[in-house]
Amino acid sequence: MSSHSWSRRAFLASSAALFSQAGTAAAQETPAPAAAPFRNPSIYRFNIGEIEAFSISDGHSLIRPAMGMMHPEIDRPVMQKIMEDNFERLDGIPLYVNILVLRKGKEVAIFDAGFGKGGNSNWGWFFDALDAINIKREDVTAAFLSHAHIDHIAGFVLNDAIAFPNAEFYCTQEELDFWFTKEPDFSKSKRDKGELPGLTRDNRKRFDILKPNTKTLKHGSSVWGGDITLELAPGHTAGHAIFRIQSKGESLLHIMDLAHHHLLMFENVNWTIAFDHDPELAVVTRKKVYAQALSEKTRLYGFHLPWPAIGHLGPKSADSYVWIPERFSWGS
Ligand SMILES: [Zn+2]
Repeated sequence: MSSHSWSRRAFLASSAALFSQAGTAAAQETPAPAAAPFRNPSIYRFNIGEIEAFSISDGHSLIRPAMGMMHPEIDRPVMQKIMEDNFERLDGIPLYVNILVLRKGKEVAIFDAGFGKGGNSNWGWFFDALDAINIKREDVTAAFLSHAHIDHIAGFVLNDAIAFPNAEFYCTQEELDFWFTKEPDFSKSKRDKGELPGLTRDNRKRFDILKPNTKTLKHGSSVWGGDITLELAPGHTAGHAIFRIQSKGESLLHIMDLAHHHLLMFENVNWTIAFDHDPELAVVTRKKVYAQALSEKTRLYGFHLPWPAIGHLGPKSADSYVWIPERFSWGS
């Protein structure tokens, strides 16, 4: 029995236990026991030409302090006002974690793998979702990494082994080079420097585990019969990659971590988040990709945008865009 199926059973068993406990508590009129964590890996199915696609929620996180993560500092009152005007919560920035899965015949591709199992009940739901759509870890044939932050890379490793053993693991050479440089350069990053040695150590271990399946892709390289093209989009990290998917005249551009929030990261493309390794370069990249997406009316997908995270960009003014989410649709 795989640890995967064991975990699924454990989850179901704990759900059953919760219901029986709740029933007993109600009968005795004693206070109900604390609710067990509610795991809800939402799955949204759509198509890109002949490709079957799923937007899967791996869970969520809340970035605190909200505005404290955003730069430049001088613009934080404006950012705060935008959040208030849009009735957004102000105690933190909700961070959605969305994983794109593609299926074409016997081929299955995943784009990043989320936080991985265990640790925190707010995330790591991806594996339960794959179960629900009858995709086994062994069925995945292509695993794409955008960059090596924990919410993207951790799920590729399970119990110190490759989580998707039959998948080619694609990333950029630039990303590998950054993490394996003797002293990775975080000098331009505004993130907490204390966490960086651990982050580097953990990533080197993960990349070592993934090495037998690793293949690097260059900017503009296509795989999957030409359906998936990697584009280098540096700044968030040195080797940060985005992915263009095309099939039968339809397309989707997965912009990964160009945007961490549906308002703040579009309202002013000069604003950055502390997770960017090189904020100036991140802005240059964002301007280029957004301008092209607007002029070409590109359908977009975002790793951290509100699930299911499919939409387009609309214009506001110079250097300012609006995220136009696609409405849910349950059929033709
Ligand atoms: Zn991220």
